[in-house]
Amino acid sequence: MTEVEAIELIERLKNACTFNRFEDPGVYAEYLRALKGYDYGRMDAAIDAAIEEDSRNVPAISLLVKKYKDALNAPKDRFEVKNGEYCTVCDDRGYVLMKEVQKSGDMDIPYQYVLYCPFCPVGRSQAYDGRNISDKEHRSPYIVPPLTEYFGDEGIQLLRDANLKKRNKKTGVVRPTEKEFQANLQTIGKSISNDWKYDVEIPF
Ligand SMILES: [Zn+2]
Repeated sequence: MTEVEAIELIERLKNACTFNRFEDPGVYAEYLRALKGYDYGRMDAAIDAAIEEDSRNVPAISLLVKKYKDALNAPKDRFEVKNGEYCTVCDDRGYVLMKEVQKSGDMDIPYQYVLYCPFCPVGRSQAYDGRNISDKEHRSPYIVPPLTEYFGDEGIQLLRDANLKKRNKKTGVVRPTEKEFQANLQTIGKSISNDWKYDVEIPF
């Protein structure tokens, strides 16, 4: 983060905590120096987490760094959405990744697309359309469309089958090879171009 952002976070700490020692120039300089080494958004969240536990004293730098690291390991959403029932379409991940390879001269440039799963709460929480954000400043052309835009009923059934097989790995059923699975998807996907590839570790 920038110096200005670090100063902003120190102001937050001053206002949020009953006791602080920021009048001591040494303390102030030390927090400033430490905070600048981290990402602003995540550190802001880390401060929230630390203050939630104790809002009397300014959290030590070491505590902030710990909270920061915890936030790194946690899911992106602060309020985690969970599926009540296992979602066979997306394996409870809420999305599938599609890879498209675009030719640029002699180069193959792979692009990755995220499609959200409209069949479960985790998936629906990942729907995103930057074009419809009410706050104009944050609008963007970036969207996460539902996987139903790319998969027809049969394609979705294949996703279900693949995930169910993964779950019941030990039943010893004969499984198609990954190649066959990919080939099937290519032929039955509603509007999948030949360059699309279903990108998930297929356990066969
Ligand atoms: Zn799902």
